[in-house]
Amino acid sequence: MSTETEAPVAQTAGKIMLVGIGPGSVDHMTARARAAIAEADVVIGYVTYIKLVADLIEGKEIIRKSMTEELDRAVSALEAARAGKKVALISSGDAGVYGMAGPTYEVLFQSGWTPDDAVQVEIIPGASALNSCAALVGAPLTHDFCAISLSDLLTPWPTIARRLDAVAMADFVVALYNPKSGRRTRQIVEAQRLFLRHRRPDTPVAIVKSAYRRRENIVFTTLDSMSDADIGMLSTVLIGNSNTFVRNGLMVTPRGYANKYDMDGGATREGERAGRSLSTGLLGWLETLAAEHAAGDSIATLAARYRLPADYIQATLDEPWEAAAAAPTEETEA
Ligand code: SAH
Repeated sequence: MSTETEAPVAQTAGKIMLVGIGPGSVDHMTARARAAIAEADVVIGYVTYIKLVADLIEGKEIIRKSMTEELDRAVSALEAARAGKKVALISSGDAGVYGMAGPTYEVLFQSGWTPDDAVQVEIIPGASALNSCAALVGAPLTHDFCAISLSDLLTPWPTIARRLDAVAMADFVVALYNPKSGRRTRQIVEAQRLFLRHRRPDTPVAIVKSAYRRRENIVFTTLDSMSDADIGMLSTVLIGNSNTFVRNGLMVTPRGYANKYDMDGGATREGERAGRSLSTGLLGWLETLAAEHAAGDSIATLAARYRLPADYIQATLDEPWEAAAAAPTEETEA
């Protein structure tokens, strides 16, 4: 017979669950998000989000908070969890995207919490506004994209402006969160000004308000007129890259298949091979670069041609490289 003794169980420890509930409709909440709310003793969140899960919270302790009380919410959550309760902190979209996950960990660390603490933390992912808004307008994010919040409540404007400038220059598709509020009306105008320095005025822009909520509204416009559109606290602004187009009311950013395949027949273009990097991919480009340099193009000329830093061009030319044929690996992507 086994004489093993069980490790002493800590007093039923509390738990903090950071629940991303998606854009706002029950259908777009994950099963785990709903289960987490259902198993919670305490539910904390904005009134609007609490209303969205009204069916799950009967009999629970509810703490309704306003926008400016994020740190208070994290503190309340920790207090309740220390008292042995399971706490669900509700965020719209994903709790880790401009949400409560960051402030909560900051408050926890401040109080001396570590991952071994009796109070456990679970983050439950949800569809962020960029996922929801993209799904409603077509396929705008099928190539490199990034998110920038125009809120200067906690971030200096020069930081935001520098990021806008960098991603506009680098041709990312961009999702602008917190684009405008009653008091913050000029940020979107400044964002437009920075983008127009790098992108065509007719670059497609989609403005999605209240995705998957009752007052959902979608407007297609262009970069040069986006700041005239109706934009508010519940809008996300999607700005296309230089290849993004709108057709039949759908905003689409090409993946790049047209670079490799004939889009009519599906045949591979001259010089390209299925499952391999493009001829202008890294190895092919290095070959071209070396040849151009050998033919007399200076580092400065090459840097200007490819819009890359001269020291980077120099470093790649200095690095020994293998011929493109060397690596036989096939690539597959979902
Ligand atoms: N955690 C959230 C973002 C919170 S910041 C998420 O992952 O989506 C708040 C901003 O999110 C809003 O200003 C708006 O830009 C965007 N947003 C949130 N829900 C939205 C919705 N249903 N439709 C459109 N934009 C939304």
